[in-house]
Amino acid sequence: MTVGIQTKSKNENMAEVVQRARDTFNRGVTKPIEWRRKQLQNLLRMYEENRNAMAEALRKDLNRCKTEAILLEVEYLINDLKNTLHELKEWASPDRPPKGFVNMLDDVIIYKDPYGVALVIGAWNYPLQLLLLPMSGAIAAGNTVILKPSELAAACTEFVVQTLPKYLDNDAVIVVEGGPQETTELLKQKFDYIFYTGGTNVGKIVYEAATKHLTPVTLELGGKSPVYIDNTADIFITAKRLLWGKYINAGQTCIAPDYVLCTKEIQDKFIVAARKVLKEWYGEEPQKSPDYGRIINNRHFARLQTLLDASKDKVVIGGRSDANDKFIEPTILANVTASDKIMEDEIFGPILPILTVENAYEAIKFINSKEHSLVLYVFSKQNNIQKLFTEQTRSGSINMNDTIMFYAVDTLPFGGVGHSGIGAYHGKATFDTFTHKKSCLIKTFSSLGEKITSIRYPPYTDGNLKLISTLLRKYHGPSFKFLPYLVTLAIGVGLGYGIFAWQKMASEDL
Ligand code: NAD
Repeated sequence: MTVGIQTKSKNENMAEVVQRARDTFNRGVTKPIEWRRKQLQNLLRMYEENRNAMAEALRKDLNRCKTEAILLEVEYLINDLKNTLHELKEWASPDRPPKGFVNMLDDVIIYKDPYGVALVIGAWNYPLQLLLLPMSGAIAAGNTVILKPSELAAACTEFVVQTLPKYLDNDAVIVVEGGPQETTELLKQKFDYIFYTGGTNVGKIVYEAATKHLTPVTLELGGKSPVYIDNTADIFITAKRLLWGKYINAGQTCIAPDYVLCTKEIQDKFIVAARKVLKEWYGEEPQKSPDYGRIINNRHFARLQTLLDASKDKVVIGGRSDANDKFIEPTILANVTASDKIMEDEIFGPILPILTVENAYEAIKFINSKEHSLVLYVFSKQNNIQKLFTEQTRSGSINMNDTIMFYAVDTLPFGGVGHSGIGAYHGKATFDTFTHKKSCLIKTFSSLGEKITSIRYPPYTDGNLKLISTLLRKYHGPSFKFLPYLVTLAIGVGLGYGIFAWQKMASEDL
């Protein structure tokens, strides 16, 4: 049976919505693995039955071409969900970590508890993936979810509002529509987990709201992600991999390369290669290319146009724009300096500045003078250069000789550090994000166990203190995991031998 999600209209009471989700959680509806599995299977069916509708919504919002829509959102969601369904039992099972001598006879367990009511706030640039992927992780972990899609991606929000109700439990997953005003109202409520994707400034607002209730958060933010290219990199392959990462979704990708650092010589070679690659991909008139996206709205278009206007004299490729079509041509700027306007904030659009440096050390110094980025890209065949950047810079992730592709490795947790975010998800990390690991010690009442630990009781003696200190010390020798079985085996063998000896003696007596 599928039930509808009751979408929260802008005038309804937020407290009631959150209470409904809380009541569902408190009734224990979402805890059984079977319930979670059923919801996730329904969600998978939703993705598979609505591939075209999802691609169409993305086209309406961002003029996203079908290949990018299916590859970067729909298929990504499907693969993640299939993996979660496959691993769910394993991930949700309690862990039994190694234990020390003192707890030899006890059970030491880590239970995987859901937090309760999770709030997931999505961003507009990948409006389906960034909303539905954390949501499925929250359901997998046994939480109820309040979903807040980005108001800027209207067609995708409409899709979520209209379609999700046909597949999921409407008392466990509730969509709330609205912009900053509704989100502000929502954030006054008490949640057990908040997962936010979006800009750093709003991230700070979300963080502040969360502290009032001591709610744990994941903040998936942005920032300026740098690229370094050295003279050992294959310049044509570098151009393709870098420009693909920059111009998918017309540069509106949180992990898009923001700016390039390289020597003057590499800059010149890169521009030649980039010109060739861009012409091959989007033709002489990228505005006519079916594979090139548009800027989300007039506000963001105007912001990017201001950046273009301020950089006119540095344009070496592209530079054309059309406000009526929210089109900005794939653009490359050369000989940009640190004080240029384009270097102030995350660009989040199809403009790529190149700054020249003398060497890797100067690049590292520049990178370290900025806030930590979501990702750092290095193009170099030299292991020592890769090592240098890995060891001497900090960023959420680091990707050598490619862009974006690290995001698709589901065993790599994805998230920022410092201004680019708090926490990480993808694959098992998503399940873990929405899971409280509850530690549990179960002592036995056995007399042997009591004897071992009774030296902790008063009256205290120096001898007992010494002994207990020794027992408590972390043991790094062979594991005690199999000790109880060995003891049982030894007792069994001993008993068997005793019976055998007794029978032998008895037969000799006869
Ligand atoms: P956005 O405008 O869609 O805002 C994100 C969410 O915050 C929306 O749901 C919106 O309703 C809400 N919001 C906006 N203003 C608010 C306010 N004053 N109070 C409360 N809530 C508010 O998205 P955006 O911020 O323009 O997104 C772009 C940024 O997000 C970029 O910096 C990008 O790098 C970053 N981003 C990060 C990731 C990631 O995974 N780390 C992914 C995508 C985007």
